[in-house]
Amino acid sequence: MSEREQAVPPPSEPSRIAVLDRAEGKCVVTTRAVASGQELLVFDGSLCHEPGKYTLQVDEALHVESPKADWHFINHACAPNARIDLSAGPGRARLIAAVDLEPGQEVTFNYLTTEWDLATPFRCFCQAPHCVGWIRGARYLDEAQLAAFRSDFAPHILRLLRRTRASWTG
Ligand SMILES: [Zn+2]
Repeated sequence: MSEREQAVPPPSEPSRIAVLDRAEGKCVVTTRAVASGQELLVFDGSLCHEPGKYTLQVDEALHVESPKADWHFINHACAPNARIDLSAGPGRARLIAAVDLEPGQEVTFNYLTTEWDLATPFRCFCQAPHCVGWIRGARYLDEAQLAAFRSDFAPHILRLLRRTRASWTG
């Protein structure tokens, strides 16, 4: 096993999130108040080379997957309250609160900041000013959408944009 494939140990303290089963579908909510910058989840699954419905893209051709339900039901939002942190490397992805969260608040992140080409595209109805509508992956975003999210993209998405978009200067 190479260094990048080593599993991340789970957080030692009780989980800050839980799955909530709502009439409109499952989601993930906080179990307590969480301050901006605090860790919500470690993506400590196995690495694979193809995207799936529940994978998180962590590098240009690397995805991480897990059977954990609290991971599967973190919904997308175009103006989310959490973000993916890959600063410790592709094998150490973490979900971080982007703002102060109340207990019981739904946790979301912008899938377009990590996913280049989604295995299962879907329609977003989040009503954010920059809502993209069809969520297919960062590769399909137009120039205005790229500009709206440019400070949030993961390093591998920035690299792919630099390589594939002549106009991209981010
Ligand atoms: Zn949206």
